[in-house]
Amino acid sequence: MLASIPSATVLGVRGSPVTVEVFVGDGLPGYHMVGMPDTACRESRDRVRAAISSTGFGWPNRCITVNLAPTTQRKTGAGLDVAIAIGVLVASEQLSGDVVHRHAFIGELGLDGTIRRVPGVAPMVDALDDGAVVVPAGNVVEAQIAARGPVLAAPDLATAVACLSGTRTWDPLDPVDSAGEPPPLPDLSDVRGQPVARRALEIAAAGGHHLLLVGSPGSGKTMLAQRLAGLLPPLDRDQALETTMVHSAAGLRMPPGGLVRQPPFRAPHHTTSVIGLVGGGSHQLRPGEVSLANNGVLFMDELGEFGRAALEGLREPLEEGVIRVARAAIRVTMPARFLLVAATNPCPCGGGPPGACECDDGARLRYLRRLSGPITDRFDLRVVVHRPAVDELLGIDASESSSDVRQRVVAARAVALSRAGKLNAALAPDELDTLAPLSEPARALLREEVESDRLTGRGYHRVRRVARTIADLDGVHDEPISIADIELALQMRAPLRQRSVGPMADRWIA
Ligand SMILES: [Zn+2]
Repeated sequence: MLASIPSATVLGVRGSPVTVEVFVGDGLPGYHMVGMPDTACRESRDRVRAAISSTGFGWPNRCITVNLAPTTQRKTGAGLDVAIAIGVLVASEQLSGDVVHRHAFIGELGLDGTIRRVPGVAPMVDALDDGAVVVPAGNVVEAQIAARGPVLAAPDLATAVACLSGTRTWDPLDPVDSAGEPPPLPDLSDVRGQPVARRALEIAAAGGHHLLLVGSPGSGKTMLAQRLAGLLPPLDRDQALETTMVHSAAGLRMPPGGLVRQPPFRAPHHTTSVIGLVGGGSHQLRPGEVSLANNGVLFMDELGEFGRAALEGLREPLEEGVIRVARAAIRVTMPARFLLVAATNPCPCGGGPPGACECDDGARLRYLRRLSGPITDRFDLRVVVHRPAVDELLGIDASESSSDVRQRVVAARAVALSRAGKLNAALAPDELDTLAPLSEPARALLREEVESDRLTGRGYHRVRRVARTIADLDGVHDEPISIADIELALQMRAPLRQRSVGPMADRWIA
């Protein structure tokens, strides 16, 4: 007899429907699976067989053929186990086909019949029609976010079959508490002093400018970076759904309200593999950190310690806002639009208080050279962070809170989006003259910087974009960019490369 059971699979961050066809017929006893299963999927036979036997059903000692349709598409992971098991039970007439009509099944089976949570349930359920879907109990929240029909959950195969047969009822699910407040993000009011770095965070958030923090250990770079996501506007519905899909595909736990509604903050360690960073993998094409940070912040501490391949992998996301990952014949495109904040020590020894550095010029130069190249060109903002003075640490004045700063950020973003349809960081050089015209004194200052070799051609455009954001934050939208805005933008562009060693060693270019 033939059974046809709907399920779904996920590739990258997209789900697609799969029909599990099971035929149990005469012929030599055996089990054949066709339809491009991957290894984990192929191994389902042993799990399904053990689960069915330990649940008290009989494993049909006949010829079992499992076809995963459409056959042109690769099936990954163990999420089809439950659908295959139900298919075997129906095709061997141990379960009525009528009771599974318009039911889809997603989940991995343990050998004892337990239904285990799998990554990617939100995109998988999103790919299904409005019939009922049975998911693992641990995936209920994300399934409810994406489902068009009823969501059902059971702890194990026996319970699922009993509920389908009507001998017991499905456990009621907790409603998704979409009104629940997500936990607060770290707040800027915790940061004492650091006026320049605080301003840089605000400018970065408002203009979408990538930010590099340069400072010795203990200067507070990480604490500052952690506060950037809280300055971004909360995600709108589409962004929240997109982010939830990516986090589900990566197998992350969903927040209490189901939807990821806050801009994500991801901080991969420099030992993270290239696959971990950009996505991919030999078993499933999973999203990496660049996609998990989509619509939020990617923080790379100790930037110089990341490998060249990892930094190279950032190029496509930074340029196009997506990452394309290929494995064998499969290619997937995943969203990867994030605000990049990176941190680095100023030199190999870490710098420390003024005068403490003992690195020689050669060592400093080699250290900074590791940072140079395509990646450092991406930072519109490069700010030196100093350890706060004792007075600042002990100061009783509370610093401005994230929500106050965020209001200015939201207003400035709205202006930029209505003016150019994009954030200021994305303005092309030829747009700057019309959208960010310079006042005469500002133009003169920039000319001087370029002529004296303190500013490169790229740097010139970056300074103008940042100055546009500074003016937007100040509520100045219709006047040419002032010299004060250019001066501040130049201050936010700490020199990174040494021009030479020896007597000129303290000369830098931006
Ligand atoms: Zn040093």
